[in-house]
Amino acid sequence: MNTTHITILGSTGSIGVSTLDVIARQPERFRLHALTAHRNVERMREQCLAHRPEVAVMVDPQAAESLRTSLAAAGAVTEVRAGPEALADVAREPRVDAVMAAIVGAAGLLPTLAAAEAGKRVLLANKEALVMSGALLMDAVRRSGACLLPIDSEHNAIFQCLPNGYVCAEPVTPHGARRIWLTASGGPFRDRPLDSFVGITPDEACAHPNWDMGRKISVDSATMMNKGLEVIEACWLFAVPASVIQVVLHPQSIVHSMVAYDDGSVLAQLGNPDMRTPIAHALAWPERMESGVEPLDLLTMGKLEFSEPEAARFPALSLAYRALEQGGTATAVLNAANEVAVEAFLDERLAFSKIPAVISATLDAMETEPVDSLDRVLAADRRAREIAGEEVGNMRQVVS
Ligand code: NAD
Ligand code: MG
Repeated sequence: MNTTHITILGSTGSIGVSTLDVIARQPERFRLHALTAHRNVERMREQCLAHRPEVAVMVDPQAAESLRTSLAAAGAVTEVRAGPEALADVAREPRVDAVMAAIVGAAGLLPTLAAAEAGKRVLLANKEALVMSGALLMDAVRRSGACLLPIDSEHNAIFQCLPNGYVCAEPVTPHGARRIWLTASGGPFRDRPLDSFVGITPDEACAHPNWDMGRKISVDSATMMNKGLEVIEACWLFAVPASVIQVVLHPQSIVHSMVAYDDGSVLAQLGNPDMRTPIAHALAWPERMESGVEPLDLLTMGKLEFSEPEAARFPALSLAYRALEQGGTATAVLNAANEVAVEAFLDERLAFSKIPAVISATLDAMETEPVDSLDRVLAADRRAREIAGEEVGNMRQVVS
């Protein structure tokens, strides 16, 4: 068996930690080229000592310095690099076969794009990269011959339910697939009275009933913007219009998504909610390997329920559809405004119930432009952040 050289972008996050757990189960199969993080020195130090990557990147220069000192004291051989350019370098490194793109948010775009341009196997968890610039990322994948495999559990499920040999980024809707059912748990506030939404705290929003995730995606799950971003992600990955995708609430998070075919067949992928399943699937594809996930017991799992999400409870979802319809830079604007609003909520500068209003006002304030260059996307991202920041300030004044 050939050894796969791998870089994990965002190794200290929830997906990064799960990826290392899966890889450590097959040491003969994988060699770690690089691990990267923003500034969590303590966790990166532990990871370097346990997994011995060739390179560790800390985006924050002070964190890099402190990691360098601490690894040298421990006699570790890992080379430490600093700064955002180093992320793209370890993604495009010629020795690397596969890149796990697991940085959260827009910060993941450039290194993910670098991996795609270099023709790597790209394991895509960083959905924000596709939402910001699906056209550019897909184009890079097609031109370089990279292999794009979805890590997001729903998209990984859909990929597994598509005909064998289906390639993401192929500009052809999979033959005979008439509907994609994208499942959503509904997050922690599925049944919470709407009139109590204004008092929601960050810790309540981050306490997801089924999944243990980073704080940004946890808030996105609570507003259901996560599902909105996933609808956009699915349109790019599977070359389908939004009308093919239907979001369905499924509180148990056992059926990870489904594809309905012309002949009446519906194929679903089921499993316990644990990201190590899609991670192991994409790492081993087209083979299968052990992931450490508890097998699903059909006899004890209980009822599986499906229902339609309430529009009034989850306004963020319709904002995503609106941006998708506008096309061009509108989805980058949506993503940037959402990141600003979520950060403000996590810092207790914005009420949970105001997150959609910040995004909506930002979309209203900006013209949509075509996504014909990275500069255009980055300019829209920057401007949207400024506007969303002002909106957060305005809403704060209204509250106080
Ligand atoms: P997380 O917050 O736990 O980890 C984020 C990682 O990104 C960390 O390693 C952090 O150091 C790094 N990072 C943060 N800001 C950075 C910056 N400015 N520059 C460089 N690196 C930076 O997030 P997560 O839950 O692991 O999610 C990662 C991505 O995977 C997100 O795009 C998320 O939407 C997606 N995803 C996550 C899950 C999940 O179960 N956690 C499921 C599906 C998709
Ligand atoms: Mg998901």
